[in-house]
Amino acid sequence: MKIKVTTKILDANDRIAEENKKIFKNAGIFVINLMSSPGAGKTSLLERTIQTIKDKVKVGVIEGDITGTTDAERIERLGVPVVQINTEGACHLDANMIAEAAKDLPLNDLDILFIENVGNLVCPAEFKVGEDLKVMILSLTEGDDKPMKYPLMFQESSVLILNKIDLKDYLDVDIEKIKKDSLNLNPKLKIFEVSCKTGQGINEWTEWLLTNISWKKP
Ligand code: MG
Ligand code: ZN
Repeated sequence: MKIKVTTKILDANDRIAEENKKIFKNAGIFVINLMSSPGAGKTSLLERTIQTIKDKVKVGVIEGDITGTTDAERIERLGVPVVQINTEGACHLDANMIAEAAKDLPLNDLDILFIENVGNLVCPAEFKVGEDLKVMILSLTEGDDKPMKYPLMFQESSVLILNKIDLKDYLDVDIEKIKKDSLNLNPKLKIFEVSCKTGQGINEWTEWLLTNISWKKP
């Protein structure tokens, strides 16, 4: 019985996600769902990414957090439109929350919309929100066992950003194992090693992003 209910929730969510997708497509926007555990560097990656690409493309952001506006304030300082969702306890964003938040964004003026999901390696991978691309961040400080422990996130994502690469000499973490296990789960996964602190790898990531995604204004 319980499994049936969960399936229904996901079915309903998928339908709303499809509607979101149509709205975004009609506005000519490419949408990226950014996921990771808390503290891996989603907002820091957004800051670096937006600073690097904002002269070339028009970016908007939806921030998802259980409470507070700290991350939205960080994004607002970069001069791009941002909406904060407070899930008030929910550990992931769903399509309905995105449908509501999108109403407060100037969709026709945007090329790329980043959605920063709630920090969590589990259920954000299960809930579509109407995105074109799922990107996950794994910080080296989280250890090299995460692909085997949270396989769905690695299977669902198209891009894996390995953040805090500047710390690699201080950590007992096997980067090659992370890459090998991730690619075993998802052979098409594109992997970038970056440091949001030093800026290492950010250009490779943003260049890949701008050449591999597309948006078309009506
Ligand atoms: Mg954040
Ligand atoms: Zn959740």
